[in-house]
Amino acid sequence: MMKVPLNLSTMLERAEKLFPKKEVVSRTLTKIHRLTYKEIGERTRRLASVLVELGVQPGDKVASFAWNQHRHLEAYFAVPGIGAVLHMVNIRLSAEHIIYIINHAENKVLLIDEDLLPIIEKVKDQLTTVKHFILMTDQEELPESSIQPLYSYEKLLASGDPTFAFRKDIDEYSPAGMCFTSATTGNPKGVVYTHRALFLHSMCLGLVDTLALSETDVSMPVVPMFHVNAWGMPYAATWFGAKQVLPGPQFTPKILADLIEQEKVTVTAGVPTIWLGLLQEIEKSNRDMSSLRSVVCGGSAAPVSLIKAYEEKHKIPFLHAYGMTETTPVVTVSRLKTYQNDLPLEERMLIRAKQGLLVPGLEMRVVGDQGDVAWDGKEMGELLLKGPWIADGYYKDERTAENFRDGWLHTGDIATVDEEGFVKLVDRTKDLIKSGGEWISSVDLENALMAHEAVFEAAVVAVPSEKWDERPVACVVLKEGFKGKVSEKELIDFLAPKFAKWWLPDAVVFMDEIPKTSVGKMLKRALRDQIRDKVKVG
Ligand code: AMP
Repeated sequence: MMKVPLNLSTMLERAEKLFPKKEVVSRTLTKIHRLTYKEIGERTRRLASVLVELGVQPGDKVASFAWNQHRHLEAYFAVPGIGAVLHMVNIRLSAEHIIYIINHAENKVLLIDEDLLPIIEKVKDQLTTVKHFILMTDQEELPESSIQPLYSYEKLLASGDPTFAFRKDIDEYSPAGMCFTSATTGNPKGVVYTHRALFLHSMCLGLVDTLALSETDVSMPVVPMFHVNAWGMPYAATWFGAKQVLPGPQFTPKILADLIEQEKVTVTAGVPTIWLGLLQEIEKSNRDMSSLRSVVCGGSAAPVSLIKAYEEKHKIPFLHAYGMTETTPVVTVSRLKTYQNDLPLEERMLIRAKQGLLVPGLEMRVVGDQGDVAWDGKEMGELLLKGPWIADGYYKDERTAENFRDGWLHTGDIATVDEEGFVKLVDRTKDLIKSGGEWISSVDLENALMAHEAVFEAAVVAVPSEKWDERPVACVVLKEGFKGKVSEKELIDFLAPKFAKWWLPDAVVFMDEIPKTSVGKMLKRALRDQIRDKVKVG
């Protein structure tokens, strides 16, 4: 057989050639844009030529700081199309982490969405590698900015070459994209995606038993394009010629419902918080959601009640999936086997709420103290993964050894596997809190709390939240002499300047002591059970 390297630009080329009339619908601050794949193709080539003009070389990193919109999609293909690497910066990180990841990835160019410019203006002096700042805006005139020079994306594109040829000599193992994921403590860890991994993962999204993404779909990734490549949907949808809907900045459940109704979205993906919000919206405003053939839910566990509300009450098919930044991300999808369709409703729902069956192409093990666990739905162990779209380390990071050993990714997720092979996550070893699909480090919050003169000891735990999945609550033991003299508000105000607002604990519970194991390790699970009914979280 021919040795043809797997290359991302072939995806866009296919859309240009075979589906030039099909549309990408993109919501920005000012309007809804409608561009055909022919136009997206030309604009992407223009962007690629402009980046070359700006001096971007193969292997260089270009960063995006952007929502899900068409210019971001163009960067998805233009940057790897010249052999460079697109770093999709998570806009929700703290300023400190944004600075770290852009510097660590040595980003040369930064593409910024209009409303996010103030965040970059605040940190620009500490960005040591960025040479060119480009603003993605609909406006003719750029806003006043402390960043100089600041280029206009559209003006640059106007000078670009619409016939620019993408590189074909790229080794398939070359990096094409990168995202960072939160660590238990300290700086985020980078994961680099190769052309090969993204290509094979996209193919997997098209499998009927996976997401079944196809030309017939109208695909709307709500999961951010800065969070594991919007779960790969923009690549696959382009490749298959599906119409895409990109919901843009600061969307609300109402905006999502409007887009689904108007654009007849068939498949959409996001975290449970998003689907809870949409549920409330469709229940109060009686929307026509009949175009939806699949609401894909991952990033956190999908509660049975949510699956039931969509499927039983609203007749909207719901699909639970699992993955992580290190896995590109799709690993398991929870679809019933044909013979399970005869089971009673309650049983079927319990299976569907599991994380599901491993997708074709990957290998897994679930390993406990005694080795591989029995597939009995009871014995627990850590989920280990291997495969062509599983990372083999973190980008220039000593912490690689913590998660990558003996050729396997150690996920930090604790799972059972039932007799049918369905994986169910039951716990995680990583001391992190997942709120609205994004991570909060309990360790970092604890360390910051301990820096307060009145705090003797602090433990931050995840308390279940219907809306956000989990919210942080701080359990604090005050030093003698300070008891009764320090308020909850004072401690939250103390944390506020150091963290993003959504990281701040929803409550502070003052205690006499924090429960510990015999070796002095905090018993966080016991603590969580002790306080979960006593506090109110968002
Ligand atoms: P991230 O890298 O931010 O996408 O987070 C990946 C982690 O989120 C996994 O290791 C799990 O701990 C958690 N996660 C992702 N999907 C699910 C799911 N469907 N159910 C439960 N936890 C999930």
